[in-house]
Amino acid sequence: SPYPYKMEGKVISGFGRGSKELGIPTANLPVDDTLTPWIANIPSGVYFGYASLALPSTHPDHPSSAPSGAFTVFPMVMSIGYNPFYKNTVRSAEVHILHKFGRDFYDAHMRLLILGFIREEKDYKSLEALIDDINFDCEVAKKSLSREGWAWDKGSEGDAEWF
Ligand code: ADP
Ligand code: MG
Repeated sequence: SPYPYKMEGKVISGFGRGSKELGIPTANLPVDDTLTPWIANIPSGVYFGYASLALPSTHPDHPSSAPSGAFTVFPMVMSIGYNPFYKNTVRSAEVHILHKFGRDFYDAHMRLLILGFIREEKDYKSLEALIDDINFDCEVAKKSLSREGWAWDKGSEGDAEWF
């Protein structure tokens, strides 16, 4: 298995389409074909895994016991592809973290551990259909990550050092 895939970078502004207003904000990472050569060769679609964020200690979701800049792990669902609904021409990587944040975290360093594939990218006739599918993807991701072997267990996993 080629999994897990790893990718990291600073959270940048996305396409400003108002994903947040739809209830599904996506933290965008720059796609660098040199750092992540595998990204050109995987199917466009929806993936799941974990995101780890280095939040400043002033951020409401920074754990009070942790030192500033310490990484905090969250489950995530992400899209890699061209987003046919929006007719993009460059490949994008955007991550919806399965956590309700008290504030944005643009510029934060984010590391991704991509553990599995949910479905291929689809073109949508309506925004409603797109949102329905994304909400379903979130449920699939939660289910998959809660299964034994994928549940995040600090310190016990081989990839703990990545985070
Ligand atoms: P943009 O087009 O700039 O990516 P979005 O509407 O997709 O705008 O919002 C993304 C931003 O929202 C992220 O960069 C992050 O700072 C913030 N955010 C808040 N909650 C989440 C979340 N649960 N998952 C991802 N990003 C979130
Ligand atoms: Mg976004």
